[in-house]
Amino acid sequence: MRVNEIFYSLQGEGFLTGTPAVFVRLSGCNLRCPFCDTDYAAGREMTETEIVSAVMEHPAHLVVVTGGEPSLQLTESLVDSLHREGRMVAVETNGTGLLPHGIDWITLSPKDMFLGESAKPILCEVDELKVVYDGVHKPNPYEHIKVRHARFLQPCDTGNLEKNKEIINQTVEYIKTNPQWRLSLQTHKMIDIK
Ligand code: SF4
Repeated sequence: MRVNEIFYSLQGEGFLTGTPAVFVRLSGCNLRCPFCDTDYAAGREMTETEIVSAVMEHPAHLVVVTGGEPSLQLTESLVDSLHREGRMVAVETNGTGLLPHGIDWITLSPKDMFLGESAKPILCEVDELKVVYDGVHKPNPYEHIKVRHARFLQPCDTGNLEKNKEIINQTVEYIKTNPQWRLSLQTHKMIDIK
């Protein structure tokens, strides 16, 4: 499995915000989002045993497998191995690929609003939906997808402070008029942690 990085931090976004977690960032993505802030291309080959050992160096119960796009590589055997060690396995996916069985928490962050049909999510049931809002593309609530916990709108980080402030205000106003949404902020960036 090609791994970009494994690190220990707090989950910064969505429903599990503030929860300590070991992040396993797998290399590679099938999409090219214009606002992507993840350096997912680089990586080194690791066996599943090596990944589990690296995760076990940290005490957190939660393991977040992210990317890039984790569905390109994640296997049921890695999920099972992490379970055997008593860990909870969460995945953050763009939803374009099938995921292995047994994942405890699925965060769907679809990108088809920006990229079109080829990025349409194929998942039917997830734990949370996290849609990036840029103030331009109307957020799709994906009502056909069963979302067990919450639908989040997350202001797009453009890298420009002025623009970001404008998008945050637009997001807040959008949520106030469309209250099926909740606000997700990238709190790790606000407190300057990884
Ligand atoms: S799906 Fe995620 S990792 Fe892939 S290009 Fe888009 S923002 Fe980046």
